[in-house]
Amino acid sequence: PSALVWFRRDLRSYDHAALYHALRRFGRVHCAFVFDTEILDALPSRSDRRVEFIWRSLQALDVALDALSRQAGGGGAGIVVRHGRADEEIPTLAVQLGVTAVLTNRDYEPAALARDRRVAGRLAAAGIGFEDFKDQVIFERDEILTQGGHPYSVFTPYRNAWLKKLDGFYVQAYPVERYAARLVPKADGERVPGLDELGFTETNLAELRLPTGMAGGRALFEDFAGRIGRYREARDYPAVKGVSYLSAHLRFGTVSIRELAAFAQADGGAGAQSWLGELVWRDFYHMILAHHPRVVMASFKPAYDRIVWDAAPELFAAWREGRTGYPLVDAAMRQLATTGYMHNRLRMVVASFLTKDLGIDWRRGERHFADHLIDYDLAANNGGWQWAASTGCDAQPYFRIFNPVAQSARFDPGGRFIRRYVPELVRVPDRYIHAPWQMGAAEQAAAGVRIGREYPAPVVDHAVARARTLARFAVVRA
Ligand code: FAD
Repeated sequence: PSALVWFRRDLRSYDHAALYHALRRFGRVHCAFVFDTEILDALPSRSDRRVEFIWRSLQALDVALDALSRQAGGGGAGIVVRHGRADEEIPTLAVQLGVTAVLTNRDYEPAALARDRRVAGRLAAAGIGFEDFKDQVIFERDEILTQGGHPYSVFTPYRNAWLKKLDGFYVQAYPVERYAARLVPKADGERVPGLDELGFTETNLAELRLPTGMAGGRALFEDFAGRIGRYREARDYPAVKGVSYLSAHLRFGTVSIRELAAFAQADGGAGAQSWLGELVWRDFYHMILAHHPRVVMASFKPAYDRIVWDAAPELFAAWREGRTGYPLVDAAMRQLATTGYMHNRLRMVVASFLTKDLGIDWRRGERHFADHLIDYDLAANNGGWQWAASTGCDAQPYFRIFNPVAQSARFDPGGRFIRRYVPELVRVPDRYIHAPWQMGAAEQAAAGVRIGREYPAPVVDHAVARARTLARFAVVRA
């Protein structure tokens, strides 16, 4: 009997749950990936860093599967790539290959679950099995529950229970190499289609410091391993190389979450512990999404859907384009536009600014992030936005409102990050870099920038906006 492994957000050839189970149980194993037109057609642009990231990572995976098979004494292998609706392509391919079952790693997004149900139904009609496995998180769905047997909705006790449960078993790697000779070579003429054949063009991905594929993930991980000890102190400063930059690799599974968690746990230092806590946030939001799929559209706390937001199309455009007049907000939004990445501290700052300074619905900001982040992940993004908007589980209370100038002074004290992305302000002295509108005419002339001309005046007054937000959010108490 033979099986087909359907790769999705797990583009690697080691420590892979579905691949391991297929190889262990079936004599012949095929591998496939579908560029799903249901997803691709909905993307805002035909030049998308994520499509290119996947495409490059698939080429590397194709080569890696071949090497894996040969090292195990097999006749070579690779990944069969299709372009179409996944819920049609996978059943069709499974029938063509004559497999007994399709195995895949579990996805927790509502749309993905619905797609998988359609696939399973079509396969069943053809007498083919469908099985999915936990792979992309350490603990899923019901694995961490309160003492009363309920899912957690507050992070800290969840994290404590998560850390308590973590042991060697849960981070053990799946030894796919053991049975890799069972991988089946691809049919003649099967190749990874070109990016242009998928209807996409190249982006600036190659210029970014984001190497793709398993080798790229490995390089970033090794670089971070050497500085993980400083993570706790350095992680909040966007101008400093303090974080891992592994989010896109975690998103597409070009690194293994088990390997990362095992590494952090074994290190045991304060930096590694703090980083492990971030990986727990990742599991937490996946668990929340699995239990509460309604958060995709609605506030986690239903009362918060009584809030009336402003339409404010001009303010929304200023936010998106990085011309709000608040330098740190603008630098962050320009970082997103030019690199597809934004530092975590800045994600919190700009999300707070959109919802609490501009009075705009968090869902519109969430959508903008979804369109542009390379590491876009529905669970983490929705959780992050609802946290910032105070509508989520474990939210910061709504009356705690980030002051964008104070955040800037605290987390980009020398203005280094601001100057990197807002060149208009390069010559503004440090004491005005966080609030350049406070410069007088002579100071503006000396800095070579006129506020309101080369760089915008602030689109809102924070003190006024703060008062409006407190009034706006008051409906939740009614
Ligand atoms: P590191 O600090 O090195 O963290 C390591 C990993 O832990 C990350 O790669 C990520 O997988 C996970 N992680 C860290 N923080 C969080 C968190 N708060 N929630 C969930 N997982 C976390 N993360 C995404 O992966 N995709 C998103 O679409 C996303 N949208 C966000 C939106 C908002 C408004 C906010 C406030 C946060 C969002 N995050 C998102 C979480 C976080 O900002 C990014 O994971 C992080 O900045 C990625 O950089 P890194 O890999 O260098 O992080």
